[in-house]
Amino acid sequence: MANISYIDGVYCNIENAKISINDRGYHFGDSVYEVIFYNNGTFYDYDGHIKRLYNSLKLINIKFHITKQQLKIIIKNLFRLNKVNFGSIYIQVSRGVADRNHSYFKLNTKPILTMIVSKQKNNFSDDIQGVKAITVLDNRWSRPDIKTTQLLPNVLAKTYANEKNAYEGIFIDHEGYVTEGSSSNIWIINKNNEILTREIDGKILSGITRKTISQFTKNNNFKMLEKKFTKEEMLNSREVFLTSASSFVTPIIEIDNVKINNGIIGKTSIELRDLYFKNF
Ligand code: PMP
Repeated sequence: MANISYIDGVYCNIENAKISINDRGYHFGDSVYEVIFYNNGTFYDYDGHIKRLYNSLKLINIKFHITKQQLKIIIKNLFRLNKVNFGSIYIQVSRGVADRNHSYFKLNTKPILTMIVSKQKNNFSDDIQGVKAITVLDNRWSRPDIKTTQLLPNVLAKTYANEKNAYEGIFIDHEGYVTEGSSSNIWIINKNNEILTREIDGKILSGITRKTISQFTKNNNFKMLEKKFTKEEMLNSREVFLTSASSFVTPIIEIDNVKINNGIIGKTSIELRDLYFKNF
């Protein structure tokens, strides 16, 4: 278990890592976050995640006092202190502590940085598992492109999926198009063998794993299009998979009780997953 966390300048046991009841992240979800995977000295897509963290901070006007260099030192220290060789880091920055008031007008709070490391089982070489998913209406706010901790619709969607014995909840917009998963980007391979994932149109998070996989498809001569697709297209496709920093490339073999490719993991999903791991 990884016991040492980082909280506002201090490395401490997770049980003693306490945050103020007046933290704006706690009150309003006024905070942003990132998750980065780590494998024996290598961070997956480190620069992309850190760039997105600073961009999220900028988008909600949090003036962060810690530089990228300082952040990297803290992250490395945490993996060393926890003796974790394989796992991920959760990084959160809230606007800080203040008396409860919606507005942050003229508020000069110091942002609070917190981090937790989690250890994971190194089972890359195990047989790859396909997962089930359930579709849900996308009822999120109009800025899901910002990676804030305000995740209640995502929490409800994932829980609903789990209650139905599924791994992921896939959001469908009001026009019947797939947006993304509750914590992942969604891809299909259609009957024309085109690989599709929704374009960055403000309705999804610009996934870092999505970007890396998109680059692979281009470099390896796959037919890839950043274009939205409907729920029906998804249910009728050859392959469906999801991408995220913690699930990498994970094949989806059943959605809303409809089997994809007769419930068998497709070869392109496996190929892209392998390419992803070989990249680091
Ligand atoms: N969409 C949502 C809503 C997510 O929460 C995540 C995971 N953070 C992703 C997509 C995938 O992003 P990434 O590949 O950067 O982990």
